[in-house]
Amino acid sequence: MSFLKDTLSIFKKNELLFLESYKEAEGVYTFLFEKEKDLTWKAGQHGLFSLTHKKIKNGTRPFSVASAPTEDVVKITTGISDKPSDFKKALLELEKGMKVNMSGPVGSFYLKDNRHSLLIAGGIGVTPFRAILKQLEAEGDGNEKQVKLLYLDSAKSYIYKDELDEMVHNNSIDVSYLESREELYQEIDKFITAYKNDGNYFIAGSKSMVDSITTHLKNHNISKRNIKKDAFWGIN
Ligand SMILES: Cc1cc2nc3c(=O)[nH]c(=O)nc-3n(C[C@H](O)[C@H](O)[C@H](O)COP(=O)(O)OP(=O)(O)OC[C@H]3O[C@@H](n4cnc5c(N)ncnc54)[C@H](O)[C@@H]3O)c2cc1C
Repeated sequence: MSFLKDTLSIFKKNELLFLESYKEAEGVYTFLFEKEKDLTWKAGQHGLFSLTHKKIKNGTRPFSVASAPTEDVVKITTGISDKPSDFKKALLELEKGMKVNMSGPVGSFYLKDNRHSLLIAGGIGVTPFRAILKQLEAEGDGNEKQVKLLYLDSAKSYIYKDELDEMVHNNSIDVSYLESREELYQEIDKFITAYKNDGNYFIAGSKSMVDSITTHLKNHNISKRNIKKDAFWGIN
């Protein structure tokens, strides 16, 4: 039932009012939109964002909603290079008061049960995890299980770092900032040893990263049903 609900919600269309944008780090920008009263999502889900202020080919992209519903704002964060796509160029041209469309929220990339969870982020893949951790923080200390974020960023930009460091004060949340795949796999293996199939494994980042970590988990007998993936195609 919940699978159908998480998928069919793609037909729900929301018009969002653009509020502001700002730079998070070199080549990474955050965009904030007003949250309508009747719009909600499960922390970790994504929406399909379409630009309407300018006609462009392929004017829709999926983005994880990086804010928790409790924050009362829709936040997305994205990498924009020196040679941006037409979509990203138009995104940067948004002005206060303009509107975008968001279909969704969609997907099953959210914490469902009170189990130990390992959140594995590659670079910009941290966006859904910011929402998940913010939601946990808002819910207070009710969560007795450990939620551990492994945040790999070879460029060491670590967007949201200040906020994540604040969240670690919540006893059940832990964050490790990692620079190399070797370190990442060591940390994953520690979690596997501790919790095996009693834990959930969430992976978000480039498709190649998501695929290789999934293979690693499966090789360590982690069942498919305990692995959730958000492969951000279009990023390296
Ligand atoms: C569930 C989900 C959540 C995401 N969340 C975020 C987020 O929070 N932040 C973020 O920055 N990005 C996110 N993305 C990726 C985002 O949608 C864009 O693809 C990405 O930002 C690159 O956009 P672009 O306009 O710069 O490049 P694009 O114009 O999209 O192209 C970049 C490259 O990707 C290829 N490509 C485009 N679409 C596809 C496709 N469907 N299948 C295979 N290859 C394709 C193109 O051929 C090109 O080589 C998410 C993707 C998914 C699926």
